[in-house]
Amino acid sequence: MKKIGLDAGHGLYTAGKQTPDGIKEWSLNDDVCDRIAAILSKYDCEIIRTDNNEGNIDESLSSRVNAYIKAGVDTFVSIHHNAFTGNWNNATGVEVYTDRTPTEKDERLASLIYDRLVQYTGLKGRGIKRANFAVINQNKVPAVLCEGGFMDGSSDYKIITSEAGKQGYARAVAEGLIEFLSLKEKPQTPDVPLPQNPDVIYQVWENVKDKWLPNVVNDTDYAGNFKNAVCAVYANLTSGNIYYKVHVPSSKGKPARWLPEVKNREDYAGNLGQPIDAVMFRTDTDKTICYAAHEKKSGRWLPPVTGYSEADRINGYAGNFGREIDAIKIYFV
Ligand SMILES: [Zn+2]
Repeated sequence: MKKIGLDAGHGLYTAGKQTPDGIKEWSLNDDVCDRIAAILSKYDCEIIRTDNNEGNIDESLSSRVNAYIKAGVDTFVSIHHNAFTGNWNNATGVEVYTDRTPTEKDERLASLIYDRLVQYTGLKGRGIKRANFAVINQNKVPAVLCEGGFMDGSSDYKIITSEAGKQGYARAVAEGLIEFLSLKEKPQTPDVPLPQNPDVIYQVWENVKDKWLPNVVNDTDYAGNFKNAVCAVYANLTSGNIYYKVHVPSSKGKPARWLPEVKNREDYAGNLGQPIDAVMFRTDTDKTICYAAHEKKSGRWLPPVTGYSEADRINGYAGNFGREIDAIKIYFV
């Protein structure tokens, strides 16, 4: 993986470096750096910023060089905007600098960026130049410094503060780097839509009207009539299987017990005419099924549960033994 040192020149509080109307050079440089990083995020490279990312510290020039040398970058680009008098003037154009003793790679990198910088910003080309700017004044790593137009140039100002101008500057540098380092696009991770939860469709049989109530879906409604005890449950999913069983209190000499588990609508769980006091549901999907029981006597919903275990009184089933249920809700979370 190629590493790229990227530098927004100066700091937010650096004296003097600003447009005549007070936009700090670092802010403009930082904006372009962020755009470069965004373009390059699709490529097999890593960006190492050598300025302070808040702009609040104007990192020294030597610390920036030390940082990118230590990080072992493959190349380094410092992003700047130019200034002439500091008051509005007619200065215009872009430049790319190498140090005074450029390597072949320095020069190649400079020209790959420079040609695009002129083209994409539409600003005048002032040439590829040499100067002993401290941040690029080493010959271990190919390094250039870009000046992307004059902050105090009346016509340049309009471009360098515009969306198109900033993006043009960023594209020029990013594409120059892509070609210089032969960067490859990362394989695209396709946007797989998150699989939807299946619907739970269920109904109960209640012992006052002595009939099956209409089906309900998920938690858009509940199944049951408050005050009328539930005796049996039918349920199925729109995909996958649901398994469930109900618990009945002792009656007619038979002990309280869990009735046999049923699957989907192969059978219902419960005995018609015999109120239930607990239910449990599980599915073979990788989703979490959640269910709640409504107590007839207290008139309240018990906390929803997600488990399926006769031994787990807290999360293994919904209901309190000995207290009849008059409604249930089942849904995926
Ligand atoms: Zn500068």
